[in-house]
Amino acid sequence: MFPYLLPTYSRADLAFVRGEGPYLFAEDGSRYLDFAAGIAVNALGHAHPHLVAALCDQAGKLWHTSNLYRVPGQEKLARRLVENSFADTVFFTNSGVEAIECSVKMARRHHFVNGAPERFRIVSFEGAFHGRTLAGIAAGGQAKYLEGFGPKVEGFDQIAVGDMAALKALDTAQTAALLIEPVQGEGGLRTVPAEFLRHLRRLCDDTGMLLIFDEVQTGVGRTGKLFAYEWTDITPDIMAIAKGIGGGFPVGACLAKAEAADGMTAGVHGSTFAGNPLAMAVGNAVLDIVLEDGFLEHVRSIASYTRQQLAGLIETHPKVFAELRGEGLMIGLKLKLPNTEFVATLRRHHMLSVGAGDNVVRLLPPLTITEEQVREAIAALEAAASDMESQA
Ligand SMILES: *Cc1c(COP(=O)(O)O)cnc(C)c1O
Repeated sequence: MFPYLLPTYSRADLAFVRGEGPYLFAEDGSRYLDFAAGIAVNALGHAHPHLVAALCDQAGKLWHTSNLYRVPGQEKLARRLVENSFADTVFFTNSGVEAIECSVKMARRHHFVNGAPERFRIVSFEGAFHGRTLAGIAAGGQAKYLEGFGPKVEGFDQIAVGDMAALKALDTAQTAALLIEPVQGEGGLRTVPAEFLRHLRRLCDDTGMLLIFDEVQTGVGRTGKLFAYEWTDITPDIMAIAKGIGGGFPVGACLAKAEAADGMTAGVHGSTFAGNPLAMAVGNAVLDIVLEDGFLEHVRSIASYTRQQLAGLIETHPKVFAELRGEGLMIGLKLKLPNTEFVATLRRHHMLSVGAGDNVVRLLPPLTITEEQVREAIAALEAAASDMESQA
């Protein structure tokens, strides 16, 4: 469409120039209800005054110093992430896949420094998405993302969620870690049963493998808890987060227990940009809001309201919708008609959503959404479903 950009995205012919809460305004001034939120990134909506103030204030002081010096914003954000999670230590990144990369390197290093360098294999799960670097696509295991990029990075295996026989057959003496999304995002909003996660935890405890959770999409309140693992009674050893923590500014982090991180000593890993003062100011501002009393309660209650409304919608349009999926405000509508067409139709009704695997439409509204805005969304979804029915 535009000759000077690599055409790796099939973009909608639509550009936004301004945002406010859950609304985006296009070049022609028309308003869209944003239930895509930059793919679960704009957790507090657009132009949240507290985030804008934090970014502008930091922008006037200092942008970047590198990781050759202490960065006070990193120390503050790391302390808050540790105090509010299972973790003891944090490494900041610029993106989700870099947080995954750090997690994988950390798991391999852990076994290396503990006398088992042969334990480098990472086991992930079918339908996974872990980002687009060479290691990310190897971990994701999706043929469509691997094709044409040379041999898959060595050391990544995949099994199906729930496949106990495959787990039993695993060569744990060569495996560094299991890597899993507690709720698969791109793969189609599939929740991994808590019982299966518990089983993985036990297996890791028994064999010394590490358990890595990819909470890049589920983290920072999206499911109604700060992190999705809190819905279970287990904790991972390592966790990757990104998307929501920056509220729209590129930030990611790899969180870990001290023991899992024992191989990550001075000089073994790094990043020029990661954890810069701008990113840290925004990350801290996001946590100011998400950790406020009552915020996550709001997410849980608005999520259950939204799900009730969606259940009604599905019932009245059985030719369009098959089922409701996901957790909290990470919502999936499994469709009977093509999801890409539904996303486009919904966009014509000025509401934004995102496609996912398995013919699912994802709804990822800002966590600050209100009941009135949810009703507006339901009306747009109704209209789109009716359009699809009359065309089918
Ligand atoms: C988005 C996503 C990633 C990749 O994040 P990037 O910032 O695009 O690198 C990894 N894992 C999951 C679960 C994601 O949703």
